[in-house]
Amino acid sequence: MTLNSLPQHLKERVRLLSEHPLQEEGTYVLYWMHHAVRDYENPALDTAIHMASTLDIPLLVYQGLSGAHRFNSDRHFTFILEGARDVAAQFEKRGIRYAFHLDADSSAGSPLYSLGQQAAVVITEDYPAPPFPRWIKRLADQITPPVWAVDSHCIIPMQSIGKWYSRAYHFRNKIGSNAWERAARNWPEAASTPKYFSEELSWDVLDWETVSIADLCASCDIDHSIGPIHHTPGGMMAGHARWSAFLEKGISRYDKTRNDPTLSLPSGVSRLSAYLHHGHVSPFTVARDAVREASSGAHKFLDELLIWRELAFNLCFHNNNVEEVSILPQWVHDSFERHLQDEREKVYDWEDFASGRTGDALWNLAQQSLRIHGELHNNVRMTWGKAVLNWTASPQESLDILLDLNNRYSLDGSDPNSYAGILWCLGLLDRPFPPEKPILGLVRPRSSARHQSRIDMSRYARQLERFPRMQSLKVAIIGAGVAGLAAARTLQDNGCAVTVFDRGRKPGGRLASIEVSGHHVDLGAPVLSFKDPRLRLWVESWHKKGLIQDWVVREADWSSF
Ligand SMILES: Cc1cc2nc3c(=O)[nH]c(=O)nc-3n(C[C@H](O)[C@H](O)[C@H](O)COP(=O)(O)OP(=O)(O)OC[C@H]3O[C@@H](n4cnc5c(N)ncnc54)[C@H](O)[C@@H]3O)c2cc1C
Repeated sequence: MTLNSLPQHLKERVRLLSEHPLQEEGTYVLYWMHHAVRDYENPALDTAIHMASTLDIPLLVYQGLSGAHRFNSDRHFTFILEGARDVAAQFEKRGIRYAFHLDADSSAGSPLYSLGQQAAVVITEDYPAPPFPRWIKRLADQITPPVWAVDSHCIIPMQSIGKWYSRAYHFRNKIGSNAWERAARNWPEAASTPKYFSEELSWDVLDWETVSIADLCASCDIDHSIGPIHHTPGGMMAGHARWSAFLEKGISRYDKTRNDPTLSLPSGVSRLSAYLHHGHVSPFTVARDAVREASSGAHKFLDELLIWRELAFNLCFHNNNVEEVSILPQWVHDSFERHLQDEREKVYDWEDFASGRTGDALWNLAQQSLRIHGELHNNVRMTWGKAVLNWTASPQESLDILLDLNNRYSLDGSDPNSYAGILWCLGLLDRPFPPEKPILGLVRPRSSARHQSRIDMSRYARQLERFPRMQSLKVAIIGAGVAGLAAARTLQDNGCAVTVFDRGRKPGGRLASIEVSGHHVDLGAPVLSFKDPRLRLWVESWHKKGLIQDWVVREADWSSF
């Protein structure tokens, strides 16, 4: 039994990640689900159903979540868990066993390897953005059964494109009419129902009907300083509601409204990217609905979906260095090199960026949108990305900061589109734009000042305020020690109005010091050690600002006492 038993619409999407034959003694087919979290129009699921039915063995769908992903926080966990709850209900209705594993403190380890080892074949999605290619390959290398990666994200299967296209124009020429023709097709759902997997699992499964997602997040060893986005719940239901609203009220005017971040929702843009990123909504449904809509707005929307989105997948599919400036073309390197010594008017550290405390009002609003709302309007995102080049010492530092902020705060972060969009800001997928400018050289400029003059800034600010958010919460914190101040900072970063009260004369609590004869004398802690890796970027920023210093043990000079 090989790949050839699959129908063509699935076979063309499968990549064999190892040469291993099907494991004859394997007692089930395992589908490892991660970025196509839905039970319909899902090529990976259909491949798994087909294989289980053909081999006449049960199908087990597995999804895992742990703190292993570097940007895990309450925000991402909540969205993923809400998606899992929806898909669990759907699988239950369809009589397909779905097993979700939450590794709260990353100590239990993932059961994926042991489950995979006993399977006849492991099916997963071919997801090209880091760290998934590495994780999927590692699984394929370490287990005996074969691992098949199935493209469940692109209308045109990624592997059929054959090479990397570094310009949208050429990509459009290559796939244009084929993409439109495929976009209009109905997805042929798998007709069979595989045998039910009824074996005991090695962990206690969640009861989705009673479990509290907030409590689950609280129990996990993740970054709790980045809160959930209540106006954008995860899951198939919420994703479809958002898509339906846009289809009904927004898409027909998308060509005219898409660049205006100040328009009332949901009309300007679809705000679907987080749902597409996690596969809560099928790109096949979205593409087909848009083709049927047939307006000039839908035409523009399809260009974004079929050309720009799939160009981003093409980029990640063919390049494993999307987090490094080495991916940029030579003309960009030469250009940056010529301007590396150009004076930066201002250089900001990670904390300045993360908190939205630059000297640029539009940039700060954009960052506020990311930090508090977990999303950023695409047109503003371009200005946001370009500006960072002017405020960092090197292009690699810009890339690191942009990827960090985007993937940390945005619900659609770590998507191929995150990489393509940010690398575009640094000159990838673009052409030289003479004449040479300071710092950017020949890379296409994008002036924040000009952008601000084009939009109604106060309306954009109000637009961000209009989301239901934590700002309505007024919080009083008693105690301005390090714990109270950290809580205040976290709440403020999430949009709350915070007032800190302390009975002392100044903040600091047991970190306070007094001055004696011109010397600072610690009343409490002389040194704090920051062992939690989640604090690293904060500590580096405070270090750069001179707010903290390395602890150097010195001989005391008592002469002045
Ligand atoms: C001598 C000494 C040495 C130490 N050395 C180290 C060290 O080397 N490394 C290390 O990591 N830690 C050290 N520590 C511990 C560290 O200082 C504390 O763990 C930390 O500062 C506690 O911070 P906190 O915010 O929890 O509490 P606190 O710093 O105690 O802050 C509590 C705040 O609440 C205020 N407050 C309390 N009640 C009220 C009220 N009713 N109304 C209004 N305000 C109120 C207080 O005035 C205070 O400002 C040391 C502590 C001491 C005392």
